[in-house]
Amino acid sequence: MSAIKVIEPATESVMAEVPRAGVEETDAAVARAKAAFPAWRAVAPADRAKLLRDLADAIEAKREELATLEARNAGKPIGDARGEIGMVVETFRYYAGAPERLLGQTIPVAGGVDMTFREPLGVVGLIVPWNFPLTIASWKVAPALAAGNCVVLKPAELTPLTALELEVLALDAGLPEGVLNVVAGPGSVCGQRLVEHPDVAKVAFTGSTEVGRGIAAGAAGTIKRVTLELGGKSANVVFADADVEKAAAAAPWAVFDNAGQDCCARSRILVEREVLDDFLAALKPAVEGIRVGDPLDESTQMGPLISAGQRETVASFVPADAPVAIQGAAPDGPGYWFPPTVLCPVPRDDRAVREEIFGPVAVVVPFRDEAEAVALANDTIYGLSGSIWTRDGAKALRVARAVETGVLSINSNSSVRVSTPFGGFKQSGYGRELGPHALDAYTEVKTVYYATGG
Ligand code: NDP
Repeated sequence: MSAIKVIEPATESVMAEVPRAGVEETDAAVARAKAAFPAWRAVAPADRAKLLRDLADAIEAKREELATLEARNAGKPIGDARGEIGMVVETFRYYAGAPERLLGQTIPVAGGVDMTFREPLGVVGLIVPWNFPLTIASWKVAPALAAGNCVVLKPAELTPLTALELEVLALDAGLPEGVLNVVAGPGSVCGQRLVEHPDVAKVAFTGSTEVGRGIAAGAAGTIKRVTLELGGKSANVVFADADVEKAAAAAPWAVFDNAGQDCCARSRILVEREVLDDFLAALKPAVEGIRVGDPLDESTQMGPLISAGQRETVASFVPADAPVAIQGAAPDGPGYWFPPTVLCPVPRDDRAVREEIFGPVAVVVPFRDEAEAVALANDTIYGLSGSIWTRDGAKALRVARAVETGVLSINSNSSVRVSTPFGGFKQSGYGRELGPHALDAYTEVKTVYYATGG
């Protein structure tokens, strides 16, 4: 096995080396999961619930350590990393309620009773990205385990550390050997093997639309169940009748959070033309005031990008002649830094308006009226997230129903919660994570008819 050199993006130095898994290690992890499955699905619901609660407690006890690891490895501000590990704990606690609530139905039929059961799928392969490493892993691992599946988790090679810690914590918390397995290795090797492996019943993936497309195609070979959480180019729609100052003050955090490396980033800010100048005037100090720097400094609000490659991709959206309307500051020296940047005016067919940038670059695009706002919001292959700012309640609901996207917020940019479903329309993917809906993605409905005679 060669080693993965894990880089700290704020310093460009190696912070750890871990063995790189390949096909052999992936096959071994699937075999361990398959062997563990019969006993794990047979664990009494209340006992499985307790094991998940114990795992949540174990993660909580290590919260600061895990947050520091995530902050250093993913380059995110320590305060954000603490919040994310808090969400991981909450996610395991939420799904600890599930084993005892996986209810079926009885359906009236002639000559007997028809009942449904929600059966686990078996071994599930979970492939996660580098932007929210442990958080996104928990959105998949917790409901998968709660439903009685065994898991092979493949973290991104750039950020494997917290997933490897989770594997250890699960054993310490009492989960049986083989129930949760982590393979840290390249997506094109370990990820692809999970997609093709005949003993893997389902793959849940978060990442780029391009890789997601390949996973959907590869999974067809074995008719695997697939859920895909992919890219986004979400709209933040600000109407003239909104609290424009509030919308402008909040807008930077809807796109520059996690240095813009967020599939929910509201990177297209659509503003009703008559308040465009007011909006930009209020946006300017909010963007220029963002403190970009060392992720471990408590006052930092935005860290570096994940890699040199990601910085290069992001920079390609801001060429020398780009219409930069507002730009914040970023440190010099080592680290994959990029300053928060707002482009305006931008032609509607510009790459920066159409493609997912996955970095701290937003475009501001004016619109004429409600119909044009909806048309612009929907003029994208994606449909993951979005916001609507207006004081007109009926308009807010009309627009919310008309925008083709999975998760929306009104007069807020907050839309991801442990207890509510999350997922995309169009090429942002299919299937839902979080909330009660995630359990549908990790169970198969079985219908049993019991003839009672007569
Ligand atoms: P990828 O989609 O390549 O990576 C996501 C995960 O998929 C990683 O674990 C990766 O492994 C794995 N993977 C890669 N190739 C395959 C494959 N052929 N089969 C199975 N698994 C695979 O994202 P990138 O890291 O390359 O980021 C590129 C762009 O994707 C970003 O700029 C952004 O636009 C988008 N993205 C979107 C995310 C989201 O949250 N929706 C998250 C991350 C990226 P490994 O990296 O170890 O090779």
